Amino acid sequence: MVRGRGDEVAATTNADSGTGTGIRIDTDRCVGAAMCALNAPEVFTQDDDGVSRLLPGGAERARDTAVREAARVCPVQAITLHGT
Ligand code: SF4
Repeated sequence: MVRGRGDEVAATTNADSGTGTGIRIDTDRCVGAAMCALNAPEVFTQDDDGVSRLLPGGAERARDTAVREAARVCPVQAITLHGT
């Protein structure tokens, strides 16, 4: 099984303030537990190797309760939220 093909990152930027929200998945750390995809299936999915991946538009949902919960329950703390 191949893992760790680079972090998965999605971010938004507010051009006026230079701030934004973002989600980062440390794919080297991910163990494919699927808790993220179960908690926030509109943001997270898994590739053929079980590694978590972000779906398009995920960064806009970084503040969603489901996304925060996904980061909280990840057993290896592979998900980092920014600007939330
Ligand atoms: S919950 Fe964590 S370990 Fe499980 S698939 Fe998601 S990022 Fe990977």
